[in-house]
Formats: sequence, structure tokens, C-alpha cells
Amino acid sequence: MVTMDKIVSLCKRRGFILQSSEIYGGLGSFYDYGHYGVLLKNNIKNLWWRDYVLNRRDIFGLDSSLILHPDVWKASGHLSSFTDPLVECKKCRRRFRADDLEDENRKNNICPSCSGALTGEKRFNLMFKTFIGPVEDSTSVVYLRPETAQGIFVNFKNFLSTYGMKVPFGIAQIGKAFRNEITPGNFIFRTREFEQMEIEYFVKPQTDEIWHKKWIRERFDWYLKYSINVKNLRLREHTPDELSHYSKGTTDIEYRFPWGWGELEGIANRTDFDLKAHQKYSGKDLTYFDEEKKKSYHPFVIEPSAGADRSVLAFLIDSFTEDEKRIYLKLHPLIAPVKAAVFPLVSNKKELVEYARDIYRMLQNVFIVHFDDRGNIGKRYYSQDEIGTPFCITVDYDTLQKDSVTVRNRDTTRQDRVKKENLVSFLTEKIYS
Ligand code: ATP
Repeated sequence: MVTMDKIVSLCKRRGFILQSSEIYGGLGSFYDYGHYGVLLKNNIKNLWWRDYVLNRRDIFGLDSSLILHPDVWKASGHLSSFTDPLVECKKCRRRFRADDLEDENRKNNICPSCSGALTGEKRFNLMFKTFIGPVEDSTSVVYLRPETAQGIFVNFKNFLSTYGMKVPFGIAQIGKAFRNEITPGNFIFRTREFEQMEIEYFVKPQTDEIWHKKWIRERFDWYLKYSINVKNLRLREHTPDELSHYSKGTTDIEYRFPWGWGELEGIANRTDFDLKAHQKYSGKDLTYFDEEKKKSYHPFVIEPSAGADRSVLAFLIDSFTEDEKRIYLKLHPLIAPVKAAVFPLVSNKKELVEYARDIYRMLQNVFIVHFDDRGNIGKRYYSQDEIGTPFCITVDYDTLQKDSVTVRNRDTTRQDRVKKENLVSFLTEKIYS
């Protein structure tokens, strides 16, 4: 059974994810991604980008700034409504999100930590505030974006005029978002700085519900395509009182984390709320002109909004496998940080090392590969397994005679003998098919 302790310790041991500013005692709920963590997260983001931007003609990409004009947040409703209910314990001073408390604690105002009395609920705005320029007064206040979506809405008209987009179409963005969460936790599940992968998909008003369903199915299947176990995924529709101020309907894709089900992605029907609101506040026309009907309207918006960090966590948990002999990450080869590792059987035989380096150089042009000649083969397998490397290639004495190497499969530990000249096609087939 995989526990969060096992995941956190593997992440530290193998340098996937590290506590931020650790030498200063760490900074609550901020994390750094080490080498394998960056590779893993980049693979997730790149596959998402490839599947939705590069491989489709109806979605274009954007990378908007982190700090937007402060009026954006007035229009979007974030200044007034992006709040969580905050309570504080009068005795131990700990703070909690009231809606996270057990019913009994919330009803009777009892601190879950020390049983002291809790204060009444206050609305706490989750946006991080900062200032532009040298004067810190109310006219220079700006906010770090709490979602990437608004950068898309304020560029809506540019995309229409520059790329001639025709409804239905989408704009996609991957980028950082910041939320001053009251109770961050569960490792990288809830942090104050995180990355989102968002699409705003603009559709004709009466077709919104059909598109909403399509996107829910599409995004659910995406996780399965990259080998998340279907038993660990489920859909959950928001109840009316849970819905965000802009949403007509939201369905979450939830993952079964070790502590229970948690949101991986939200797919919201944002209606025409945002475009209308930005039109009102900016005074700019944000309608779409339908050439066929000769009519202007505000498109409705379907928003699949996924967390890149929560995806990293889900992929790590889902792939974590432990048996009597070893721990390995059974990651889909396209998600795995490193695709293959090359070893000389022993490090003190010059011909073997040179041959292995040759193989490494050949593969390096095509895949992300590692070279390792430290310790013994068993130890090298052990560390590649924990990183999730699907193939380990060993150059041995037979190689020198027959120009062939052994390729060990991470999941079965089976070894195949493959000719050097066939190695690239052998791996390509296994990784991409
Ligand atoms: P939650 O209910 O867990 O706070 P949310 O409904 O506020 O999440 P959305 O606003 O729908 O989240 O954001 C879209 C996605 O961004 C989420 O599904 C999640 O994957 C990611 N996300 C949101 N907040 C955080 C956070 N604090 N840390 C890491 N990822 C986050």
C-alpha cells in the first residue's frame, strides 16, 4: 500500500521534489523540483500541450503575464468572491478553513487541534497582493494571478483578429498561479504556488452543455491514455452551493490519493460570464461575429482546468510499485523522466566503457538517456527503477563480438538481446506505440 511517507521519501531520495529553502528550515508549502521532477513535470505538460495545441487545429496557445491589470480581478469577481471562510482558534491561534472542518467542530466552534474556542467565520481573499513601482500605496496594488484563465479572456479579441479563430475554438495556457491558501498541505497537492494547464473553449451559447460533456469525457480519458488506473479516477459533479460564482455547472475529475479522493482537475461551464464582465469593465466589445448568421454574440466557455503539480503527484502515486525485491515507478514511457539508461557491464574494461558511451551518444540524439558506470549492475538497476526508467541497456562481452546489447524491461525485468543497428527502432516502438 503506497503511503504519502513513501512518496515524499522517494521524491527526496531521488531528487524529484525538494522542500523549498530547506537550509533555512523550509518555507511552508513551497517546493522545488529537482532534475527528475522537472523532467517528469515537463513530460506531463508537453503531452498536454501536444495533445491539445499541437495536434489540433481549433486550439491555439498563449503565455500571458503573471501580473495583470488590477481591474481584471474586479471584473472577474476575484476581488469580491475569491475567498475562503477563515476561522481562528482563540487558544492555540491556529487557523482553519471553516469548510474543511468536521461538521461537529464547525457547528460547535471547537478547534480540532486543541479543543479551544474558534472565532466566527471571516472571508479571507486568497490572492497574493504586491505593488508596482517604488510607492506602496493603494494606486500601485496588483495581484499575482490566482488562475491562468483571466490572461486568456483578456486576449480573446486578439486571438479573433490575429488568427481568425472561428467558434468553436480554444485558447490554451500552461503557467504558474498563486493562492494564499489557508491550509496548504498533503505535499504538492495544495501549495501556494502551483502550475495550471487550462483551456478556455469558446462555443455557441446553446451548445455549451454538449461541449461540457465532451470535455469531461475527453479529459477523463486523457489520464487513462497515460496509464492512470481507472479504479483511481472518478467524476464528481459540484452541488449547486459549491459552484463558483461564474459557473453554471462544474465536474471534477478526482483521484484516489492515499488520504482519500481529491480534485485533479475541474471542468467548468463558465457561461458567458467572463467575456461579458470584461466587456463591462473595459468598455471594449468582446463579442464574436458569426459570419453565417450575420449576428454578434458572447460565446459560452467550457474550461478544463488541470493542476500540473497534482498530476505529478497522481502519476507518482499511481505508478509506485513495491515488491519483496524492489521499488519501481511503473510510469508510462512517455511520462517517465528518462527513457533508457546505458551501462557498461564493468567500469574497468576500456572497450566496454567506450562501446557503451558510443551507444549513449547514438541514443542521446533521439531520447533522454542516462549513462551510468558507477557501482554494480544491481545498484544501477535499483536506482533507474526508482526513477521509472523503462529500459536499461547493458554492454557486455558478447556486445564486442556480436554488436548486440541486452535491454532490460523495467516492469518484467525480462532481458532482450538487440542488435546495435536495431536499438533506436526497438526503443522507438516500445516508447511510442
Ligand atoms: P480545491 O477545491 O482543491 O481548492 P479548486 O476547485 O479551487 O481546488 P480550481 O480553481 O478549479 O481549483 O483550479 C484548477 C486546478 O488547479 C485544480 O483542479 C488543481 O489541480 C489545481 N490547483 C488549484 N489550487 C491548487 C493549489 N493550491 N495547489 C496545487 N494545485 C492547485
